[in-house]
Amino acid sequence: MTTKKPAASETGDPLLLTPGPLTTSASVKQAMVHDWGSRDAGFLAISKLVLDKIVELAGAQGTHVTVPVQGSGTFAVEAMITSFVPRTGKLLVLSNGAYGQRAKKIAEIADRAVTTYETPEDTPPDLAKLEKLLIDDQAISHVFAVHCETTSGILNPIAEIAEIVAKQSCRLLIDSMSAFGALEIDARKIRYDALAASSNKCLQGVPGLGFVVCRNTALATCKGNATTLVLDLFDQAEALARTGQYRFTPPTHVIVALGKALEEHAAEGGVAGRGKRYRDNAKVLIDGMRAMGFQTLLPSELQAPIIVTFHMPTDPRFVFQRFYDGLKDRGYVIYPGKLTVADSFRIGCIGRLYPEHMKGALAAVREVLDELQVSSGRPQAHSRAGEG
Ligand SMILES: *Cc1c(COP(=O)(O)O)cnc(C)c1O
Repeated sequence: MTTKKPAASETGDPLLLTPGPLTTSASVKQAMVHDWGSRDAGFLAISKLVLDKIVELAGAQGTHVTVPVQGSGTFAVEAMITSFVPRTGKLLVLSNGAYGQRAKKIAEIADRAVTTYETPEDTPPDLAKLEKLLIDDQAISHVFAVHCETTSGILNPIAEIAEIVAKQSCRLLIDSMSAFGALEIDARKIRYDALAASSNKCLQGVPGLGFVVCRNTALATCKGNATTLVLDLFDQAEALARTGQYRFTPPTHVIVALGKALEEHAAEGGVAGRGKRYRDNAKVLIDGMRAMGFQTLLPSELQAPIIVTFHMPTDPRFVFQRFYDGLKDRGYVIYPGKLTVADSFRIGCIGRLYPEHMKGALAAVREVLDELQVSSGRPQAHSRAGEG
């Protein structure tokens, strides 16, 4: 145990260096101290502002609309897939991690024809192969891609994927959950029918609201596609446009907090400003971890500045649970890996975290390694990625 005071958020909580939920600002939490009626004009104005602001961040004014979905991010992904892929359609899932797998499962449960192009967790899809798949199977109507696959932290080539999907006259559905708000994805340059994200990742709101940025012309054709009442994006959008209200109880506190979080996002310089801070965080983290011998799963060109996967050190004195607990005692919560390609753990760079927090986390890693008498974080020799 350290004798120093553990690191903490503005409200005294451990810092979450995880894929979410994340550390939020005190002011975002403070925005939740009021109760709002769901028909309250003040609340409805904030709700509208939030949805409009998201369309603006997407570069999608005039072409798309934000349709909110009560629940976590997966609720929005399920709403997107089941509302956009018609019963007669077929979905190609590009998968290199848990969120691709989840999309496939959603399509299967909804009884949609689905096929998967799977690559290992450290490998983006091959674009020529994608194009060939679409040419060879003309039944494929929709393609699902994950922007940043949070399982590994890999950045998938979303612009190139979008180009091929459009060229083959298919429709693109994007899970940009862990990237939206920090990594640019501009609807004027990247063509998609729908993009799902949520309140609590790079937008730094609290968890509880998912949303789908939907192309107006595509959404207009989605009536009757949905397989559930609550996840029907067509119905939700129609009711919101007609009444300004959610069909079912909205998470009022979460929406008001997201309004505050979006103000703070704008004050930081929008997507560019938020992205820069996360890139700074990732650089401090990766440089510092490599200096202690740790190796990243991914080479720099595939690494998104969202969450970083490190190989487990091979020193037998390194026991992950003790490492995790030691960091937690010092105020830093990290995340185990869930990769099939390598034994690993993850450290996140997103949420209300600044480079000084990452430096603090590195000092804590050093202390815990010393406590465990582990001299280096070096894993067994790996053929790919690593130190570059
Ligand atoms: C976080 C995340 C989701 C949604 O997860 P929830 O636990 O439902 O919020 C979906 N896709 C990706 C890529 C994510 O990072």
